[in-house]
Order: sequence, then structure tokens, then C-alpha cells
Amino acid sequence: MKRELEAKVYAGERLSREDGVALYECDDLAWLGRLAHHKRTELNGDRVMFNVNRHLNLTNVCSASCAYCSFQRKPGEKDAYTMRIDEAVRKAKEMEDEQLTELHIVNGLHPTLPWRYYPKVLRELKAALPNVKLKCFTATEVQWFEKISGLSASEILDELMDAGLESLTGGGAEIFDWEVRQHIVDHACHWEDWSRIHRLAHEKGMRTPATMLYGHIEEPRHRVDHVMRLRELQDETGGFAVFIPLRYQHDFHDSADGKVRNRIQERTTMAAPAESLKTFAVSRLMFDNVPHVKCFWVMHGLSVAQLSLNFGADDLDGSVVEYKITHDADSYGTPHTMHREDLLDMIWDAGFQPVERDTRYQVVREYEKAPSLAERRSEPQKIWA
Ligand code: SF4
Repeated sequence: MKRELEAKVYAGERLSREDGVALYECDDLAWLGRLAHHKRTELNGDRVMFNVNRHLNLTNVCSASCAYCSFQRKPGEKDAYTMRIDEAVRKAKEMEDEQLTELHIVNGLHPTLPWRYYPKVLRELKAALPNVKLKCFTATEVQWFEKISGLSASEILDELMDAGLESLTGGGAEIFDWEVRQHIVDHACHWEDWSRIHRLAHEKGMRTPATMLYGHIEEPRHRVDHVMRLRELQDETGGFAVFIPLRYQHDFHDSADGKVRNRIQERTTMAAPAESLKTFAVSRLMFDNVPHVKCFWVMHGLSVAQLSLNFGADDLDGSVVEYKITHDADSYGTPHTMHREDLLDMIWDAGFQPVERDTRYQVVREYEKAPSLAERRSEPQKIWA
């Protein structure tokens, strides 16, 4: 079976659902890494893309209570917050000196905030930071906007684009298979709406990301199914720029009211680093039509993020200030912020050439190639958290 799969990968043949499941069943991590690295090198050489961005969460107040989510609060709960527009602008401007290129904004599904708030925030942010691209809202939020505004998704996207929206974010995808989804997702946006909204975004010229939340109650076959659905949609639209496997996190954070909001952690573990590397590798091998695979280092720690670059990933997100959604969950001591220089060092240390990109994956700046292994070994190696 390994020989067959290897032959298919080296011949550039598309892998089937059964191939994907077989890859997950394989415990030869070094072999999987070699195959994925071959594919990644064919597509992206020894380049690792990164961007300098800031994450903003305008509100953590949410009408839904997804079982894996540590971020959401109900109105009036301790820690519940909603930013005024000037506050959002002030926070965004804090990183102006870092030559920020992207703001990444996702939020709870606020029960009473009016639809008008959202395009207004975008307009003000764009006016304050005209060179910064706005990557905002999950498909779940767009579907929520349909509900609170009475507008269609098409009208909503038009208005948001007019206000400065460059791309949707890839969230809300989790695991599409209903067998799993019904137990973890508490809002109304499932595959049919998620794919409808991204298809629409692609028709309007956006390039969007797609995510997958893994390492909770799903099985490898659900991950393969998730990737197959996205691959089919990508065959149709070509609008996905990147696939991002996101590692499910337990809730280790002491919230102000002492509540643990993550309702599945009693019956789940979290994916170990080897499982994460396998997920990167299989995703890279299955997706023959999506150019990039991203490691969102906040969810993996920096050492695993460096390793993921040898397991199919070629994109690191990002500088990431105040990523509340994961930092409300984790206890791994991952930093809140990586500056441009930190990211460059991390990529060079791993033996790759850093390339700074913008939201549309256009090159902002190419940096020098990595120093040779001998040069890197001549100095004490850094330890990354
Ligand atoms: S995952 Fe999103 S929609 Fe679900 S509870 Fe959390 S904030 Fe709300």
C-alpha cells in the first residue's frame, strides 16, 4: 500500500478518499513527512510565506454555545465585552509601526448588535489604516448577518466589500460531517451554507482560506471527508488560497467566573504533535488544487510550527497580536506576539527562505535564503516555545 501511494504521489495523481484514510492509518511519520515535503517542495520550493497581521475580536458575546468553544460569553456575563468602533480602531493602530499588512477579525454572533455596526467598523478601520487589508468574518457570521439584517449573503458581501473587506476568514468550518458536527456546533451554518457563502465570495473575486478543527471527537475518516468536500468546491471555484488545519484546544484558562465553557474536553484529548504533523502531511497530499497549507503557530507552539514546515506546511500565520480565541484556552506559554524579526529567525532556523505576503498571497518582500546547515549549527540553536 505504501509503495502504491508513493507511486501515485510521485506521479502527481490525485489521491482518493481511501488513500486519505490509509495515509492516516500509517504510523510511519518520517515517510509521511517525506511524501508531503515532496509535494510541498514541488508547489512552493523552499519558501515559507508569512504575514504581519493583527487579530481583533470585536465581541465575545455569542448567541451560540458550540461545545468546543472557550471564547463565547453570554450577555451580562463577567468577561463579556463588545468594542466600540473607536476602541477597535485604536487597537488596530497600535501595530502601525510594524508595517502591518492585515487585520484578521472574527467575532461571536452578538444577539443585539445591529448589522450596521459591521460595515461601519470596516469603513473606520480602512480610513485609519488605508494600506491594511481587512480579512474579516467567518461564513457563520455572514449567515448570522443574513438573519439580523434581512439581506441576502450577496448583498451583505457587496456592502462589506464596499466598506473595505478583502477576504472572508476560513473559520466556522470545524468538521463538516454531520455525524460529528451535530455534537460540536451550536449555530445554523453547516456545509450547505458555509460552501454557499464561500462560493459566492469566490464569484465576487475574493480568495478565501478554509479551515478544519481536528483532534476532538472526530475520526480520521471525517478529516478526509472534510478535505474531499473542500477539494471538490475548489475544483469548481478555484477560490481557496490556503488550507489551515486548526488543533482543537482544551480550556485551561481560569475565566473570571471560574466556568469551563468547553463541554467536550471531559471526553476528548487534544491531538499530540505527531498527530498534528500527520494531519498537515495528509492534508498537503490530498489537496492537489490548493496552493498553500498554513500552520497557525498559536495553536501548535513554535517548535511544532517549525516542524510542520517539513510536513507540508509552507505558510505561517503570522505576527498575531491578542488572539483571544486560543489564548482563552491554552496554557502552553506560546507568546501572544511574534514580530517580523522573530518570524524571520524562526523560518531561517528551520532551513527555509522567508517570503512576506499580503492577504491575497501576493509577495510583499522576499528575504535571503536560509543559511547553510553548517552555518546554522555553528551557533547554539535557539529553543522555541
Ligand atoms: S465557535 Fe463561534 S459561533 Fe460557536 S460559540 Fe464560539 S464564538 Fe459562538
